[in-house]
Amino acid sequence: MISIPQTGPWRLADATVPIGMVSVAIAEKLGLKPTQDGCYRVSLDIDAKGLVEAVWPAEAAPETQLAVVRAGNAHVWTRMADLHTHIDKSQTWHRAPNRDGTFNGAKEAAKADRTAPWSHEDANARMEFALKCALAHGTRSIRTHLDSQKGRTQPTWEAFSDLRERWADRIALQPCASLGAAKLMDEYGDEVAALTAQYNGVLGPVLYHGPEAAAQVRRAFDLAERHDLPIDFHTDENLDPTSNGLSLIAEEAIHRNWQGNIVCGHCCSLSLKPADEAERIADRVAEAGIGVVALPMTNIYLLGRDAASTPVYRGLAPIHLLRAAGVPVAFGSDNCRDAFHPYGDHDLVEVFRETARIGHADMSWGPWADAVAAVPDRLIGLQDGNSLKPGAAADLVIFRGRSFSEVFSRLGAPRMIVVKGRALSEEEATPPAFSELDGITGLAPAE
Ligand SMILES: [Zn+2]
Repeated sequence: MISIPQTGPWRLADATVPIGMVSVAIAEKLGLKPTQDGCYRVSLDIDAKGLVEAVWPAEAAPETQLAVVRAGNAHVWTRMADLHTHIDKSQTWHRAPNRDGTFNGAKEAAKADRTAPWSHEDANARMEFALKCALAHGTRSIRTHLDSQKGRTQPTWEAFSDLRERWADRIALQPCASLGAAKLMDEYGDEVAALTAQYNGVLGPVLYHGPEAAAQVRRAFDLAERHDLPIDFHTDENLDPTSNGLSLIAEEAIHRNWQGNIVCGHCCSLSLKPADEAERIADRVAEAGIGVVALPMTNIYLLGRDAASTPVYRGLAPIHLLRAAGVPVAFGSDNCRDAFHPYGDHDLVEVFRETARIGHADMSWGPWADAVAAVPDRLIGLQDGNSLKPGAAADLVIFRGRSFSEVFSRLGAPRMIVVKGRALSEEEATPPAFSELDGITGLAPAE
């Protein structure tokens, strides 16, 4: 791999950057022409403080006195943003395995794992493990849902808050209070909303399909309004074409002329609605200013599972339809190594690769790259926009591969992570050993 100077300014020459990760204004100003793969070839000057000082078309970069690092046309991405994770449940698979691989199996297993609150040590160790994975893979901001049923907010939220402070220079973190929407209906709704506001978080109702859903949506908006909170719904995580959570949320937001930030995660059932109805809903979602995050890693595991048959419908939100309607569409990791999804490593490169292949976004890889960068970054709202431009932090992911095909053909997609202009240390660049959690989380060395 290439070697990056440890001090001083430098130039990264001949980088191949997906167009979805380059500021549109800069691309226009420089007259950048996309490659067949949907990328731009650029060189970047990086100052001693770790900011991008200049972006040049690779073939027209001026002579320089800077130390030059040649990327050799390798793919260079911005570090990424993960809009939907559950780092508090991460790494619990060994003690709460899903026995039948279904959504209900996951709920039962997760419930059994939280009869008592997690200990501070357990929650902290598993969440920090998740952050180490995410850092090593190239993520720089994360929204995480935190289980927030009555009696279960602490010590998780405190542990999260400590981690947020300790990790602020490497990963920006945002909490989202996760609980069934029905649990918000009584006074506990106000209690959990107040706690969320206290931690600068997001209200995260899990909305199930049913006759109570409309009242629950109204209640969630009331609470968000009273406590000035963004909202992030788990929405239509099923394969029932009559499931109408997304539609209820969009109509409520439009009815209230809602200006706040709303995200809907999953939105699987929309893919099974008749085309004209799905189109109409997508238009309303765009009008309401709602962002959608597709989470197929978990949904292809959980949905459409029937031990006696081969799955047909796998639970991917209709990403093309939504994007064409003008909805901001992000891809997120969701669950990693827990009852909802026994795999995953908080790796957005894996998420992007799999989502794009499952959803046939691979005919326009380059533009879709914003689904793990600028789009989720904007919806999280903690960073300055994951786009390459002068003045932005030089937060980069440098691959060995020079095209999407080369990058994605090797499992793991070997890469180097640059944080504010400097390469991560070898320790930080290596995902942690699973054995780090032995003895802390009740993990047996082998399952
Ligand atoms: Zn989730």
